[in-house]
Amino acid sequence: MKNILIIGGGITGLTSAFYLQQKIKDKKLPYNVKLVEATNRLGGKIATVHQDGFTIERGPDSFLSRKTPAVTLIDKLGLQDQLVRNASGQAHILVGKKLHKIPPGSFMGIPIEARPFLFSGLFGVKGKVRASLDYVVPKGKAQDDQSLGLFFRRRFGDELVENLIEPLLSGIYSGDMDEMSLMATFPNFYHLEQKYGSLIKGLQKTMPKRPKTKEKQPGIFYALRGGFESLVVELEKQIGKDVISLSTAVDHIEKKENVYHVLLSDGTVYRADAIIVATPHQTLRKIFSQHDMFKTVDEIPNTSVANVALAYDQKAVKKELDGTGFVVSRNSNYRITACTWTHRKWPHTTPNGKVLLRSYVGGPNDPEAVHLTDEELVQVVLKDLNKTMKITGEPLFNIVTRFKNQMPQYTVGHKERIKTWRSYMAEQLPGVFLTGASYEGVGVPDCIEQGEKAVSDLVQFISD
Ligand code: FAD
Repeated sequence: MKNILIIGGGITGLTSAFYLQQKIKDKKLPYNVKLVEATNRLGGKIATVHQDGFTIERGPDSFLSRKTPAVTLIDKLGLQDQLVRNASGQAHILVGKKLHKIPPGSFMGIPIEARPFLFSGLFGVKGKVRASLDYVVPKGKAQDDQSLGLFFRRRFGDELVENLIEPLLSGIYSGDMDEMSLMATFPNFYHLEQKYGSLIKGLQKTMPKRPKTKEKQPGIFYALRGGFESLVVELEKQIGKDVISLSTAVDHIEKKENVYHVLLSDGTVYRADAIIVATPHQTLRKIFSQHDMFKTVDEIPNTSVANVALAYDQKAVKKELDGTGFVVSRNSNYRITACTWTHRKWPHTTPNGKVLLRSYVGGPNDPEAVHLTDEELVQVVLKDLNKTMKITGEPLFNIVTRFKNQMPQYTVGHKERIKTWRSYMAEQLPGVFLTGASYEGVGVPDCIEQGEKAVSDLVQFISD
């Protein structure tokens, strides 16, 4: 019998445990699985609050419906009838003091159709002319990696980048675009530039055409009707509670011949033949403290974010805007970085006659925000929201959530860094697999895909 340990009960660790159990069953593998989670709950960054008929996400709320690893897992768990698409509606960008509609016919802020851009108030004439130079600016020289921000600035100029592309993209990573790695985030843009010499041309050639019909198109995101945490609850049920130990952290791992001695926070030592480490990368420094390699974990920095959900009676919101929310460009005098009108984008989350607004603060330009008290954060958010809306009266309640130093940043050279770590693991710590949001994608579907891949690698390792 082989002992397999999975460390971390976020979506990556839970997915690993689920797929490993499936493999054990299908192939009758002689494995004994244990998952340990440091805190007293599963889910990691996934957490849903149910209060007074509202469903409020503290962490992730949705994923792109075309991301198959998440849909496949949800199918396998029998939760497909829980999937709900977002109500499609106008999204906005706040630049200066004004809300602008995101021009249609674009992909991640990059124009595919010229007309909506020419008529958009988001950029001045100079900005539009500079962006159109993408057609003629020569392709950059082939290179292993470069900064995402500099890449886009070279193609489109600063105005399009700062007023549109950056607010859309940095929301995903809570990162500074000028520091982020192109190849670890959107390698496809690099390949389009190399192949077509222009991103606009490349997208025009490769993206499906926007339907001409005036009918509303289905939303492109999925959420789970009962909240994201319902995925965690179902995973726990199907993995089996006997496999999972809560409030049990891994403090240290030492290789002794072919077995790993894992020191747990309850003082016991677990002997593992193979291990999946599905924790944020910063834990590696402690658990592998005798390996100098992981003294460099800070080469993957983390940023901090917080979000504030405010629940209201409809009548307290005197001036509401038409749409699903907005993101804020860094050229605006706002502290919030985005706000989702959740009751509109996700009507299933909010009882009739109520309003749910979820605003975000923090990120690389405002690391202090997470240190504010709940009351201060609510005031910061209300002050900014009232610049474009008119909210009177007290909220019914608020939910404030902080993620301090928990958003991994894929900076330039990220892929190379991870490659070095992985080859070190293969040589010095064979049978230990690093997986999760710190490595090959931060989105929940990416984490699911990585959890599944870690299981294949582990089974392969044991059978070799
Ligand atoms: P985590 O969720 O961080 O889980 C790691 C687990 O390891 C934790 O439970 C931790 O307690 C445990 N652990 C740590 N150290 C130890 C130890 N020594 N021993 C045992 N256990 C340990 N993604 C999307 O796709 N869509 C979204 O809408 C979206 N929105 C987001 C909004 C916010 C505010 C945040 C913070 C993230 C969002 N994301 C979104 C990203 C996504 O939620 C995360 O990248 C993903 O959930 C990370 O999962 P994980 O399992 O890799 O890590």
